[in-house]
Amino acid sequence: MSKLPDASRKLSGEFELIARLSAGIRLSRRTILGPGDDCAIVSRPRGQTLFTIDSMVENVHFDLRWGSAQALGARALTVNLSDIAAMGGRPTACVVNLAVREGIATRTLERIYAGLRDAAREASTDIVGGNITRARELSITIAMLGEVGRAAMRRDTARPGDEIFVTGTLGDAALGWRILARKLKPRGNAKKDRAARKYLVGRFLRPQARLYPGQRLAALRPAPAAIDVSDGFMQDLGHILERSGVGAEIDASRIPVSPAYRALMGDNLVHALTGGEDYELIFCARPGLRESELSRRLRVGVRRIGTIVRGRRVNLIGDSAPNIAGWDQLRSRG
Ligand SMILES: [Mg+2]
Repeated sequence: MSKLPDASRKLSGEFELIARLSAGIRLSRRTILGPGDDCAIVSRPRGQTLFTIDSMVENVHFDLRWGSAQALGARALTVNLSDIAAMGGRPTACVVNLAVREGIATRTLERIYAGLRDAAREASTDIVGGNITRARELSITIAMLGEVGRAAMRRDTARPGDEIFVTGTLGDAALGWRILARKLKPRGNAKKDRAARKYLVGRFLRPQARLYPGQRLAALRPAPAAIDVSDGFMQDLGHILERSGVGAEIDASRIPVSPAYRALMGDNLVHALTGGEDYELIFCARPGLRESELSRRLRVGVRRIGTIVRGRRVNLIGDSAPNIAGWDQLRSRG
């Protein structure tokens, strides 16, 4: 065995590690064979199969000093769950790749995995396989399977006349990130400010995927066009408009923001319109749905914020429509 190249010997340690990280995973009956073989075996899903992948990379999407490794693991899973939610699906199984750099303690990896396990259990999703590789940066990549009934929600089905809705509030995660990155200066009332900051940081570090609302929406006929807010409201709405070949009129005064957002930003909506990682849903439905009825059925606040129109433009109306010129710089985090 001494003739084996160094890399191969290192790998055996990684096999042990992945076995240890996978040890606490509980699997549903859908999974026929979980971690430990060349492939997992999962039962054939019902309806149509959804399949998605996402990565979170150190110094791009997270900084280990910002929060617990456990929250980071949960957030990595949420990013994928949110894509399943945006299609109206139920997540069923996922595989995880951890790329690990020098200097990362095994304890940190165990905590990341603990967060992944908890979030997966909460979403009734099986972690059916894992892999560990050496790399220059720490990153977590997850590929996820889901199932959806007859009609998934897509980006390419918005039609002129559709009403545009959004769940929850926008811009919280962007402000949370700015607080952690020390890009937002404290204002006036220190005590009130502290509570608002705590809330916003929590929205960034521990986002929730809108799985239940997505599933309820997908049951509407016709199923709405939908997307999750990962890159920012304007950009993500833009994906629906582009894929559907339509434009939109957005009433800026109806953009939903949290009391914490308002405490820090007042009427400035720039982060609500352009900030990413809220993992709320934007959906476009045939007219006639009422906000209050939707909120009740989806079990989350729903706000009607505009209308799909002919053409390709986004027209932002309302008193609080911000200056559009600064958006591109604000959008990039570099
Ligand atoms: Mg998405």
